[in-house]
Amino acid sequence: MDLLVTGIGDAFSDRSFGSSALVRGRGTWIGIDCPGMVLAMWRQAAERAGISIDPREVGDLVITHLHGDHCAGLETIGFYHRYKIEGDSPRPRLHAIPEVLDRIWERLAPAMDGSGSGIEDYFELHPLRPGAEVEIAGCRVESRMTRHSVPTCGLVISDDSGCLGWSSDTEFDLEHLRWLDRADCIVHECGQGGTHTTYRELRSLPESVQTRLRLIHMPDGFEPPDDLLVPLREGDRIKVVPAAFGAARRD
Ligand SMILES: [Zn+2]
Repeated sequence: MDLLVTGIGDAFSDRSFGSSALVRGRGTWIGIDCPGMVLAMWRQAAERAGISIDPREVGDLVITHLHGDHCAGLETIGFYHRYKIEGDSPRPRLHAIPEVLDRIWERLAPAMDGSGSGIEDYFELHPLRPGAEVEIAGCRVESRMTRHSVPTCGLVISDDSGCLGWSSDTEFDLEHLRWLDRADCIVHECGQGGTHTTYRELRSLPESVQTRLRLIHMPDGFEPPDDLLVPLREGDRIKVVPAAFGAARRD
């Protein structure tokens, strides 16, 4: 499984994009979250990785929750597909838990409801049901509710080559980590406590989990107190492969 890290920052970053990634599905990319400046973010990450990504190849977006650093780019993507692409462009498929799908138009409508448009004019909506598996671009995707200040889900995304765990924004939650534990590579948020998880909490996990962790959602200037957990960088392209073969290799 091919993972391109597109953003590693938290909500207040003045130097990084919001935490997000692209996962290569069957011939297309799946976007995990969609922060502001999304088109610049995808281009910069692709350039750093030495590849090119046409935004039209991102046919599926999984939105974990409605904090702006995870969804503020949806207006751009909706308008891009509707007005910027010549000819008939299929609407991007938007995958999210019902709590997100039910309210997402409250964020978007003031900017996008001109001429009586509704969300279905821009996106094809697909609910994620926590505990149930769905197929997205040839990958199997499961979701689980996290402990965060608004309804939020973590993700486990797998195909025949590997399994990716995505904590999403969450308090430190051992139950959530047990659920993520099947993954070959676990991208986990690392913040300053409260509704986020701290580095120290992640270092309390068994070593077999720590070796598979990759950190995201870090505050600007974050300096890990040791070098035992691996912070991600924007533009990292990672092969997610079974743990026995190295879990997550940076290209
Ligand atoms: Zn959040």
